[in-house]
Amino acid sequence: MSKFRLEGKVAIVTGGASGIGEATARLFVLNGAYVIIADIQDELGGSVVKSIGAEKCTYKHCDVTDEEQVEETVQYTVRTHGRLDIMFSNAGIMDPMMSILNLDLADYDRVMAVNARGAVSAIKHAARAMVRHGTKGSIICTGSVAACQAGNGTVAYTVSKHAALGLVRAAAGEVGRFGIRVNCVSPSGVATPLACGVFGGSSQDEVEAGCAAVANLKGVVLKASHVAEAVLFLASDESSFMSGHNLVIDGDARDSDSIKISHKETQSH
Ligand code: NAD
Repeated sequence: MSKFRLEGKVAIVTGGASGIGEATARLFVLNGAYVIIADIQDELGGSVVKSIGAEKCTYKHCDVTDEEQVEETVQYTVRTHGRLDIMFSNAGIMDPMMSILNLDLADYDRVMAVNARGAVSAIKHAARAMVRHGTKGSIICTGSVAACQAGNGTVAYTVSKHAALGLVRAAAGEVGRFGIRVNCVSPSGVATPLACGVFGGSSQDEVEAGCAAVANLKGVVLKASHVAEAVLFLASDESSFMSGHNLVIDGDARDSDSIKISHKETQSH
């Protein structure tokens, strides 16, 4: 048996230029996959591809809020590699910390467009390509601990991640008959640019310390590479009978109240 868990597989990673997506793209390639990084940060994405090696990894500009760009990225992948085995729908953003009392609905729409609607596009077009080619593929979405409980992010972020988990469950129920699996990974805080930016420009150490403090599991700090390992498992044949599943990666953080975010409130209400 090959030691490469994704030998010969072709994967798209949205939001692959940074953070969890970047770590996953690297791990996929190490495990024998060919990866297309789909992101809007062209320069960063290009430099990630360069450091991974252009023979195993390509960058494609793809704004997941634009369905045509998602469809074109899937078509490009199939044209170039003849197939699509894995879609990691991971691109995500968070809006500024603000109570619902002062929520700017333009921020809400922006978050929903990337985190929820973007994931719908990614699953739709990946599944269509898989069905067309008879590929028993694996689709994984990045949820969050905010997919199941409130208090870990803004209203818009929490709604969008609940939607992402609902989407995974609904899509899994529809495409299972084609042999396509759809699963979710739900990490707690990882000190990526997204998390450090949201928590008021916190340092990596501050974000990690805050997240480690609420985990019952001690002696380990959640890194993007831990999430990538879980995604690799769901992408590989090792999880062949798992679908519609939400794999939570939170070090057993049961005390969510202690990580409730104190929202900024302006004087306007
Ligand atoms: P990150 O900022 O490092 O990476 C997010 C990537 O998504 C960036 O490269 C960004 O350019 C890309 N992106 C943003 N908008 C896009 C768009 N419209 N089209 C294509 N790409 C776009 O952050 P991250 O923490 O690695 O986030 C990855 C995913 O993990 C997100 O879905 C996020 O919600 C989720 N998540 C993060 C944490 C955390 O604490 N960092 C926890 C739980 C879930």
